[in-house]
Amino acid sequence: MTRRLFKGKLTAHSFTTDNRNVSSLKYLSSYAPSLQQQIAKLLEQDRLTVYLLQKYPTVNKVSNDTGLRDYVMALKNQYLKKSQPLSKIIFDKKIHVVNNALGLHSFVSRVQGGKLKSKNEIRISTLFKNAPLEFLNMIVVHELAHLKEKDHNKAFYQLCQHMLPDYHQIEFDVRVYLTHLEEKGEVYKS
Ligand SMILES: [Zn+2]
Repeated sequence: MTRRLFKGKLTAHSFTTDNRNVSSLKYLSSYAPSLQQQIAKLLEQDRLTVYLLQKYPTVNKVSNDTGLRDYVMALKNQYLKKSQPLSKIIFDKKIHVVNNALGLHSFVSRVQGGKLKSKNEIRISTLFKNAPLEFLNMIVVHELAHLKEKDHNKAFYQLCQHMLPDYHQIEFDVRVYLTHLEEKGEVYKS
């Protein structure tokens, strides 16, 4: 199962309502029905674990907030040196659902001494702690791209691909991973 399942372009991770019948694949609902069917079939035949393990056999070594900060800052310094500073970079165990898992950036506004201060934070779901480096890379790239582009528009995805050329394929596989977590449980034992 090493062939690419998804080659193409995502417009956004907005969820369409067209494929409500494939309810278990809600994380993949913005993809072509044929792709969803392929994954549904793997799920049904109990082959989704093997699909993920063969394609992404090893987990990352970023195990705590310090490691995460180092990882994020290295990417930021490489690709987005001049973007706004990040006040906080942490793993957050409260982020579980995919809408949040894939949209973890938060722009915190706080009134301090009568002045409105905007702070950029990156919170990564702990679901990506014990996961392949490719998945963590994709999530971090997504969040970093939001420092420059707030919306999921063309410029946003171009920036994602600049930092991670295989971005779209990996986002697809991250969604497959999240589907697996929900339907079958853990893939990577800690
Ligand atoms: Zn986003």
